[in-house]
Amino acid sequence: MRHPDTRQTNASHPGTPPSDTPTPDTAPRTDTTRTDTATHSRIMHPDTQPSDDLQDTTNAMHPGTLPCDTPRRYRSDASVRGRIHSIETFGTMDGPGIRFVLFLQGCALRCRYCHNPDTWSASAGRIMTVEQVLAELEPYLDYYWHSGGGLTVSGGEPVQQAPFVAALLREAKRRFHLHTAIDTSGFCEPVHAEAGGLLDAADLVLLDLKLMDAARHVDLTSQPNDRILRFARHLSDTGRKMWIRHVLVPGITDSREDLLALGRFIGSLRGVEKFELLPYHRMGVYKWQQLGLPYPLADVPEPTQREIERAKEIIEEGRKEAEMARPA
Ligand code: SF4
Repeated sequence: MRHPDTRQTNASHPGTPPSDTPTPDTAPRTDTTRTDTATHSRIMHPDTQPSDDLQDTTNAMHPGTLPCDTPRRYRSDASVRGRIHSIETFGTMDGPGIRFVLFLQGCALRCRYCHNPDTWSASAGRIMTVEQVLAELEPYLDYYWHSGGGLTVSGGEPVQQAPFVAALLREAKRRFHLHTAIDTSGFCEPVHAEAGGLLDAADLVLLDLKLMDAARHVDLTSQPNDRILRFARHLSDTGRKMWIRHVLVPGITDSREDLLALGRFIGSLRGVEKFELLPYHRMGVYKWQQLGLPYPLADVPEPTQREIERAKEIIEEGRKEAEMARPA
């Protein structure tokens, strides 16, 4: 459990959490497909092509949920379609509390340590409507409410499907009063993330910062970091809440210079509620093999506990330095 200290109280969901303990038949599903934590349940969706009949079947699944006096915007939100990679019903790594985590297809980056390269393709996965996703989520609401959890949309890159994600988060809040989050690489222009109300619908942005050095960022991820840093600054300037995350990769992202620069940048931002250092791991290597891709970090070891602690100290040093220099 990575977030024991960040659980929200039920007061954040006034009126919605029933006091009953969830019944056994609604216990979150578990399987062994998760690559980054054994505690998560995840439902994989094999590649399928878009189906034209999805739109027609939407409301038949929940005839009672969209009454005829429902404003048109909500009805249209429910039918927006996205391309889904997989679902976790019991996520504990991507935001506060227990969460329903939706992984989307499509990412413009090619991080050398990516443990989900099967999310890269924007044309794979399964098409689902907002209504269908919420139907998957609904049986587990008690868990999300009681733990101060909610819904997180991850990837791939959620901003690549901004209209779908915005509609889903809005509808999850309207219908279930759920806390909402997106987990993003930040590789997007602020105007695209704002379009359609995506950022307004997200209570929290989990932002992955990979490297502050521009040239080496390209080497690590295939893309420059200027857009990502601009996006982070936009979140700060517009008062959005953030959790910053950074993957610690020995020999690649762990030099004192890099960690200090990262800490200083974080310290210059407002709205950062939490920082998470994610130790590089090799649990996704088999996916690279399955895709027939050479794994670029084959010789890189996972960091030791001592290396992790050292990195945290250096980042904290940079963060404090920048915070003291930041205007009030
Ligand atoms: S941003 Fe995330 S999903 Fe995209 S390549 Fe990097 S690690 Fe993989």
